[in-house]
Amino acid sequence: MPHSRSLPLSFLRSSLVTGLALAMSGPTMAEGGLDYSMPEMAPESESGYTEKPGWASERFAVATANPLATDAGYQVLKAGGSALDAAIAVQMVLTLVEPQSSGIGGGAFLMHYDGEDVAAYDGREMASHEASETLFLDDEGEPMEFLDAVVSGRGVGVPGVVRMLESAHDAYGQLPWAELFEPAITLAEEGFPVSERLNRLLAEEEHLASDPLAARYFYNEGEPVAVGDTLKNPALAAILRKIAEGGSKAMHTGDIARDLISRVQERTQHDGVISIEDMAAYAAKERQPLCTEWREWEVCGFPPPSSGHLTVMQILGIQEQLDEVEEPLVDGTPSQDWLHGFLEASRLAFADRGKFIADPDFVDAPGGDWTNMLDPLYLSGRASLIEEQSMGSGGAEPGNPGSMSMAWGIHPQQPEYGTSHISIIDESGNAVAMTTSIEQAFGSRIMADGGTGQSGGYMLNNELTDFSFTGEDENGQPIANRVEPGKRPRSSMSPTLVFDLESGDLVASLGSPGGAAIIHYTAKALVAIFDWGLDAQEALDVPHAVTLGGPVWLEEGRFPEETLQGLRERGHEVSEQELTSGLQAIRKTDSGYFGGADPRREGTVMGD
Ligand code: GLU
Repeated sequence: MPHSRSLPLSFLRSSLVTGLALAMSGPTMAEGGLDYSMPEMAPESESGYTEKPGWASERFAVATANPLATDAGYQVLKAGGSALDAAIAVQMVLTLVEPQSSGIGGGAFLMHYDGEDVAAYDGREMASHEASETLFLDDEGEPMEFLDAVVSGRGVGVPGVVRMLESAHDAYGQLPWAELFEPAITLAEEGFPVSERLNRLLAEEEHLASDPLAARYFYNEGEPVAVGDTLKNPALAAILRKIAEGGSKAMHTGDIARDLISRVQERTQHDGVISIEDMAAYAAKERQPLCTEWREWEVCGFPPPSSGHLTVMQILGIQEQLDEVEEPLVDGTPSQDWLHGFLEASRLAFADRGKFIADPDFVDAPGGDWTNMLDPLYLSGRASLIEEQSMGSGGAEPGNPGSMSMAWGIHPQQPEYGTSHISIIDESGNAVAMTTSIEQAFGSRIMADGGTGQSGGYMLNNELTDFSFTGEDENGQPIANRVEPGKRPRSSMSPTLVFDLESGDLVASLGSPGGAAIIHYTAKALVAIFDWGLDAQEALDVPHAVTLGGPVWLEEGRFPEETLQGLRERGHEVSEQELTSGLQAIRKTDSGYFGGADPRREGTVMGD
């Protein structure tokens, strides 16, 4: 019976399976059932790349982007909470400790498995009911500069995370909603140590300090809070208490909602920014998950408005139709031959993504069904376009899935950053894959304190800049992902659950942040785990390769020169880039689970 059990009062001590130093100490919350115990966290190494061991557990596992969030999820699981309960505790802690990536001011997609069925919850941000195609046009009717739009306040969509988690908790919660907020409230009140990554992103950030609340909270006389400094966030603690007691209504109506809207409207007077009515009207949606056969597996992912699953599975499906590459992996690094197929398949898949995919409440699927984009016959036709030489930058055209011509224009590529991924499997075998975002690092750079007047608060998203800035392409064709009233912007987020096709057993939960490159990171992690047989950590370590249809980016310093040269000779425009994925993956093993966290960020896995 959901919502009936209470967390035991006994002290819950984490058994440490993390390579990063976590030790339990400090105050515990007196009220409520959860005797949450605050861990101490040693700061991460200075390097952007930290080797991780991978973590084995027998009964349950939680993988998140931050050790404090992982620990909160662990304590909830240990206390008998469900995977979904743990996800709530994790998300609230991430709002505090990873404010650059996700939080209650943003949106998310959640895949859930309850031992029988897979469900997909859409907590994506929504445009105002007053918004129109002119949202991101300047006074001359030209599209705004991307960063200007991000920080303008126009990009703030109605946040959906809290409403989404509440709906999912109604279905799959075991512990009372309010208790799941205790870890974050405790850490916000007692303070948490600033991580190396938070400090670095603050130091690199140019716009955040112009927001008065953010300047006061994140900076001391212009200097970002230092690594290891204890940061307290009383405003967020007060906000989370209200949401713990009053549910999503407390977020979407009343003081918190009024404060959010007034901060957005203070930043911009433009027509079509979100309003208090939009806040109240927001509803999370349950969508039909997409499950696709791939080799011996059934891969389940999020349908539109995310382009994630369709594009990941197009890449894998096209690549499957190519001649098998003899040596795809050389010393843990993808070979030139494998990369060529992967990159060409990515070009074709991104061409389709740019034309067809948008909020399904506003645009029709090609031929009336999104799975037409994954039809093996269609994909074999697409694969036949791949040759020895690359089609090159801009060489891939969209196809005609479902054999229906769709008069959509082509969505130009836009930069995206930020985001966080959570994977959890609980003791009963329920699983969560949730990718959660405020879009850019620190979102719109607008901080809101819920009207509390106290220090701190949470960041507001800029997710609406995932819409096309123009309503039509240069040929005058409407763009599927244009701004429309009450619409949700297209995403790349790819929370993924994998099942054994024959037995139906859950075998993995994974996903990543990284803008449009989420798609490449996820597709490659699937290949690395299921084709190459790497464990969940080795798979995440594999160097990245990305193309959205134009130039190719290879992860800096991780490929031999011959690979770069070889790809160039085949017509790819290649450069090296820092590619900061944030993959988390949990893979079922014979003895339980093995989890991996991306060496490029601060994530960890815990479990028993
Ligand atoms: N806003 C992006 C999306 O929904 C995610 C941002 C990121 O991961 O960098 O696809």
